[in-house]
Amino acid sequence: MDPKIAALITASGGIGSHFVLHKLQGHKNLVTLTEGAFRSQGGSTKGDLKRYLSQGAMPSFLDEQLFPTKKINSQESKWIILNKPPLKMINYHRTFHPNLPVLYIFRNPVSFYCTWIKKWKEYGDRRYGRRIADKQVFDWFRTTFMSSLFELAQNFDPKRDRIISFEHFFNDIDPELKGICECLEVPVVKNKDLQVLNYCKVCRSDKISTVKITVRGERKEDVLYCYRHGVLLGPGEYNYIRKEDPSFLNKWKNKEDVAEISQKFKKLFGDQLISYYEEEKYLVDTNREEFDVLIKEFLDGLRV
Ligand SMILES: [Zn+2]
Repeated sequence: MDPKIAALITASGGIGSHFVLHKLQGHKNLVTLTEGAFRSQGGSTKGDLKRYLSQGAMPSFLDEQLFPTKKINSQESKWIILNKPPLKMINYHRTFHPNLPVLYIFRNPVSFYCTWIKKWKEYGDRRYGRRIADKQVFDWFRTTFMSSLFELAQNFDPKRDRIISFEHFFNDIDPELKGICECLEVPVVKNKDLQVLNYCKVCRSDKISTVKITVRGERKEDVLYCYRHGVLLGPGEYNYIRKEDPSFLNKWKNKEDVAEISQKFKKLFGDQLISYYEEEKYLVDTNREEFDVLIKEFLDGLRV
């Protein structure tokens, strides 16, 4: 059977989508695409997606997969996962294909917002030589995140779709991988058994080494290195061999005006959901018993 279409969706960047997508690409039954796939001029287009869904005419996706790439075949390839398509596009296709699942990354809104304060500062310094006030970032963030969640809530079906909890995923990847595999009905695979890039993306040589460099202007990290083609990084300077370290998950709590910020977010997301992150409950709520209830209540509240 031809692989089916699923979509990984986020409210905006800065939420580790490529970390999740590369993990999924490491599963032999899943193919994750680049962000331009089904949207770009050079590669597959929106029309190709329509043709695939209606007639089964599959584009080759040769240059439109994340690494390590794989040959798509009807035995092994169960799902093709779109890389952050607009939710509108998915809802459009769901009129004829109601089974198209959405994997939606949800992150603690307060820490997500803090990430964006930093990002907008860097962007302002680099592009405009000035910084915007936190209030402006907050207004932008609230609109972006809330409208995305509003759109998600109207059509969310827990039997078909899956909320990927950012904090759970980064804190302990295996149970979150299991949840995704179960949602997509593919064999459950552990993180250590996922395929990783072990060759040069350009010359395909497996004679590669590592080198220490500064990634994204902040962290010194080991990255893959081909002696002919240099440093091997993925989209958004994704480091294929980044050491996973969940210690950053509660850094937002050190921000000096955190109490004030949290209060703003409690008005939007409810006391309980924000308290869940304040108390770092994802560390103990490992089976997401509490998390899933809170998210369900929140999404139900957005449904009209
Ligand atoms: Zn090379």
